[in-house]
Amino acid sequence: MIKSFISYYKPVKKIFFIDMVCALTVSICDLFYPMITRNIINDYVPNQNLNLLITWLSILGLIYIVKLGLNFYISYYGHIMGVTMQANMRSDVFEHLQDLPFVFFDENKTGTLMSRIINDLMEVSELAHHGPEDLFVSVVMIVGSFIMLSSINLPLSLIVFSVVPFLVVFAMKQRIKMSDAFMETRVTIGEVNASLENSISGIRVSKAFSNKENEIEKFEKNNNAFQVARRKAYKVMALFFSGTSFIMDFLNIVVLSAGGIFFFKGIINFGDFAAFLLYISMFLNPVKKLTNFIEQYQSGITGFRRFTELMNSELETDDPDAKDIPTVQGDIKFENVTFSYDDHKQVLKNINFNIEKGKTIAFVGPSGGGKTTLCHLIPRFYEVEDGNIFIDNINIKNFTRKSLRKNIGIVQQDVFLFTGTIYDNILCGKIDATKEEVIAAAKKANIHDFIMTMPKGYDTYVGERGIMLSGGQKQRISIARVFLKNPPILILDEATSALDNATELLIQQSLEELCKGRTTVVVAHRLSTIKNADEIIVITASGIHERGSHNKLIEYNGIYAELYNSQFRSMN
Ligand code: ADP
Ligand code: MG
Repeated sequence: MIKSFISYYKPVKKIFFIDMVCALTVSICDLFYPMITRNIINDYVPNQNLNLLITWLSILGLIYIVKLGLNFYISYYGHIMGVTMQANMRSDVFEHLQDLPFVFFDENKTGTLMSRIINDLMEVSELAHHGPEDLFVSVVMIVGSFIMLSSINLPLSLIVFSVVPFLVVFAMKQRIKMSDAFMETRVTIGEVNASLENSISGIRVSKAFSNKENEIEKFEKNNNAFQVARRKAYKVMALFFSGTSFIMDFLNIVVLSAGGIFFFKGIINFGDFAAFLLYISMFLNPVKKLTNFIEQYQSGITGFRRFTELMNSELETDDPDAKDIPTVQGDIKFENVTFSYDDHKQVLKNINFNIEKGKTIAFVGPSGGGKTTLCHLIPRFYEVEDGNIFIDNINIKNFTRKSLRKNIGIVQQDVFLFTGTIYDNILCGKIDATKEEVIAAAKKANIHDFIMTMPKGYDTYVGERGIMLSGGQKQRISIARVFLKNPPILILDEATSALDNATELLIQQSLEELCKGRTTVVVAHRLSTIKNADEIIVITASGIHERGSHNKLIEYNGIYAELYNSQFRSMN
């Protein structure tokens, strides 16, 4: 995992290298200040050596100007490096998400995923940027000041440094506790995000049901859990800061008393004493950086581990011998197809049927019977558990998924429109289509005239998920998409179920047009729409119940006949 983390440094290795050199130079500059002070106090001032005083003060001034530039570079380019790495990881994970199977999205909540991608990578970027620098600088500063101090007086520096291990051990221990506590807050904020996402997406439903109190209660539960976790984390954090600060203060007493005794005994002079005090005051910084690093490392690596988990989640991969099959004829065959989402319930059992190219097969039956599931198996949104599906007598496993899906158009009950214009939403049927093709598709879908009544025409924004359009308008846009795609195979899964009768009639016309010359799998709850299907299959939770043409099934007088008669009666 560390190796994969390091690989993200590759594109920014130049910035990284310069960053480290700058950080090292700044540390060395800092290490010289107490030494110069010492020389000034011990030598130049008592001896009234104005020349040397001015020379060294100028050198110090120069050092500070160089430091200015270096600090700018470290801060600016360092963050750019972190952000670049973060952006690269985000692109990688986004790309990966595109190829994850439906099962993955069934199992993972949108809000949690978003929180992971945004927050975790933020932590990773912090580690990527500050981690190596903090580690490097703090080690250089601690070792460097020890060397400097021992060059002044070894016994005194040993006394002073005997406190350092306590400081470091305490600080690290507290930091680890702190990071565990903050991990908990990240898990809980993930839950808050998930419930926020869920509630905002469903706000129209909860408003319609006046479920405000219920929604608030659910949200408050998560929000409180987050608050409790945060409170715990802050307590550990407060202990850390007050504790380390206390040890640092204690260090002052050690230096003052030991240094005082050394001074009384004439072992050190004023300048040495001052240099000691200055090094100690500088010391807080590297120790803080070191403990910072520990915490950054923990949360950054945790974030990166979660990122790697996401990156390692199983993709929809094509079989090695899968072929690109650009256009099929459209014969479909199901052979003993069995499927279940989980172990304890089989949704489809031994399904067999054949559709010749250009023909229509219809599925009817009670809700939950598995009609949608069956439709989803054809473009391989889910994998069959047993049995095989063939298109043009080629097992669909031997298609690349991309080419398989290019051959299939789907119109569903729930239409998803992307936030954007009407034009973009139709264009997603065929990304490289020309404007003329888009308009032609819209005309065939009976939506062109409506679009032209909008002030901005095709450039009208549809709002989030198409909220500014009616169900029928959205459905016609989704039909236009499929016209544009022009696939040989068509799946209509309750495409008109959510519509009123008048709208349905209008859409029915464009759907009939769409079906022409295509192999069509249709699921419909209004049976008038499937009367003319070449074969009708009644599917229930226990499997295929009856099958045949409309007339044959009416004659058979089973479930289909009963459904048909009840609908027919209610229409009169
Ligand atoms: P239909 O379209 O005939 O109403 P579905 O194919 O949607 O039926 O559902 C068939 C069964 O599979 C139902 O019991 C449903 O609860 C279950 N099911 C559907 N989708 C999923 C899913 N993504 N994960 C788990 N179970 C599912
Ligand atoms: Mg369904």
